[in-house]
Amino acid sequence: MSVLLVGSVALDSVITPVEKHDDLLGGSASYAAVSASFFAPVQLVGIVGEDFPAAHVEYFRSRDIALDGLQVVPGETMRWTGEYEWDMNVRHTRNIALNVFESFSPVIPDSYKNPDIVLLANIAPALQAHVLDQIADAPVPPRFVIADTMDLWINITKGDLLALLRRVDMLILNDSEARLLTGETSLIKAGRKIQAMGPRYVALKKGEHGCLLFGEGAFFSCGAYPLEDIHDPTGAGDTFAGGVAGYLASLPKAAVTFADLKKAVVHGSVMASFNVEAFSLERLRTLDPAQMAGRFRGFTEMSHFADGSL
Ligand code: AMP
Repeated sequence: MSVLLVGSVALDSVITPVEKHDDLLGGSASYAAVSASFFAPVQLVGIVGEDFPAAHVEYFRSRDIALDGLQVVPGETMRWTGEYEWDMNVRHTRNIALNVFESFSPVIPDSYKNPDIVLLANIAPALQAHVLDQIADAPVPPRFVIADTMDLWINITKGDLLALLRRVDMLILNDSEARLLTGETSLIKAGRKIQAMGPRYVALKKGEHGCLLFGEGAFFSCGAYPLEDIHDPTGAGDTFAGGVAGYLASLPKAAVTFADLKKAVVHGSVMASFNVEAFSLERLRTLDPAQMAGRFRGFTEMSHFADGSL
């Protein structure tokens, strides 16, 4: 089964207190697609300009990511610059040039038929909804639809986001975004309030402190992998979402259960933990399944503390 994925494909500049790198492969779809590709085939929908390096296209192809839905148009690829403080949880967007993204209208090619898992990675909610519109008549509805979002869309297109939430199975967002969306300071209240807005499931990310998963009458708290060295947190959320979607697509089952989602968020956390070890997607380029399995087992060990007795 495959993952249908829409999002941004960008060239990033990233500044940390100790390093600065330009012209990096970035964008929500790039991180999410490569992460998901470790579990299942991916069908990418996005847009780049004619300046987008062929080497990046080749890399996507080498990961079994279908690119029939990647529009290559005259103009420049989206560019984004982010700068981190010493506390790497704090990031400032220094510059964003949407370029070809400004006129992007996602088109699902005929070759992407019957999507199984749909991941609407971070882009404007109206564009995410446009993808759902195009698959509304699929003979078999997708098994599970996941949406990611960011503070920008909560601030400037909240109506579109609320409309989208009624159409997805799961929303992924971070703690500050959940507070912004709901006006709640308690993350537990915020998670429940977002469920009432539409999605049956909510994954609420807390950066280096893991994530909370809300289901129907169910709750799961997943820690984060204790890393000593974080080089670039960019794309951690997208890599997490890609891991969740990819793992769900790899399950040969008719329906997604809360138990599946618990494992999925751990796989997502494992992928994110690798991603932040190097700039851009560099760490994922060298990642192998044995390393992923090792860290997944590490998570299991770290979370298990009792045999049920007091
Ligand atoms: P994250 O660290 O998960 O927030 O994702 C960072 C990535 O999001 C970067 O690679 C950027 O290119 C991309 N990005 C930044 N702003 C936007 C935006 N407004 N829409 C879509 N993608 C964005």
